[in-house]
Amino acid sequence: MSSKQGDGARDKPLGDGTRLVQAGRRTEWTGMPGQPGGIVNPPVWRASTILYEDVAHLRGATTADPHRLYYGRRGAPTGWALAEAITQMEAEAAGTMLYPSGVAAIAGALLAVLKPGDELLMVDSVYGPTRAMCDGLLRDFGVRTIYYDPLIGADIAALCTDQTRAIFLESPGSLTFEVQDVPAIVAVAKARGIVTLIDNTWATPLLLPALGLGVDVSILACTKYLCGHSDVMMGSVSANAALWPAIQKRGHMLGQMSSPDDAWLVLRGMRTLAVRLKHQGESALALARWLEERPEVARVLHPALPSCPGHAAWARDFSGSAGLFAFALGSTDDAARAAFIDALALFGIGYSWGGFESLALPVDPANLRTAQKWTDEGLLVRINVGLEEPADLIADLDRAFDHWRAALRK
Ligand SMILES: *Cc1c(COP(=O)(O)O)cnc(C)c1O
Repeated sequence: MSSKQGDGARDKPLGDGTRLVQAGRRTEWTGMPGQPGGIVNPPVWRASTILYEDVAHLRGATTADPHRLYYGRRGAPTGWALAEAITQMEAEAAGTMLYPSGVAAIAGALLAVLKPGDELLMVDSVYGPTRAMCDGLLRDFGVRTIYYDPLIGADIAALCTDQTRAIFLESPGSLTFEVQDVPAIVAVAKARGIVTLIDNTWATPLLLPALGLGVDVSILACTKYLCGHSDVMMGSVSANAALWPAIQKRGHMLGQMSSPDDAWLVLRGMRTLAVRLKHQGESALALARWLEERPEVARVLHPALPSCPGHAAWARDFSGSAGLFAFALGSTDDAARAAFIDALALFGIGYSWGGFESLALPVDPANLRTAQKWTDEGLLVRINVGLEEPADLIADLDRAFDHWRAALRK
């Protein structure tokens, strides 16, 4: 168009917030044929049966075009809009498949790339249910899983065999927050024709452009930040052009799809993802820095702190930090840890994270490690920082330490 050469402001790629406002809002999904304009958000298209004009159209219908109504399981515009919005977050993504949960997305991705006899290299800090999937479902289907140290980097080459089909990353780990050297692992995998997959739920593509770093498949538990409001279960798998056909095909074979109401809610959540993530990330870092100075705290596990294993990789590859981190109390007294968490007034006690409300959870990674033991002393508390004022959250933590000290004296 008329944009001048070298006009910096106009040539710059659109920022995250801008792209999220635009994403997935095709006029054919928000308007009516023959009427210019339309509504802002794609509506909820509920569908199982799709009606055809006549038998000829029924017979001529094809599933080749992903954005043609065919049958409910193949989706409708609400889900297509969400999938397209997620694809648009990942510059290198060729497409995105939706699943009814993050775990279903992980299963869908792994079952698309693995076959009996294959070996899977799995990061030892992985989300617990993913480990259970490897040790149960995948083992039953003849896939062998080998767990590796999250800090292994290029040394992962030593674990690769002729049977190694895929390397699964999760960075940082969602309990212990080690940051992986994604480019080093990708380089090893690419040299050997091994597929790389990442659970990118913590960072989302906004903080870690995983496919841009050469990872083939990026998995999100949309349940967390994309939804952002703790009321939807959803997962997604985005893949580069080489892997996308296999992901989509296997997803269809497995009968995977998502409710349009849930897709609509996640799409609504995504509009504010950039501002939520920024606010929650900054608040979490403020809390982490405050906790680091506390005598009650043995260690803070937060990728943006230099003490975090893999911090240099975080500083190089990530454009920010999210709102989830953990810290170790300076005692192994489980009752005192419970007293601390119970005393928090502004933090809910519950699983999951990524919502607008703060949460605190006791976490115990020791039983979830096999590549190398988790030997840290001090019991961990994991914190999801929400949209509350950080000063209020800090005051709440401060009060809870009184209860922790009182419980230790008992
Ligand atoms: C929650 C979570 C998942 C699974 O998502 P669900 O929607 O709960 O199935 C996967 N990976 C990570 C890192 C998670 O925190």
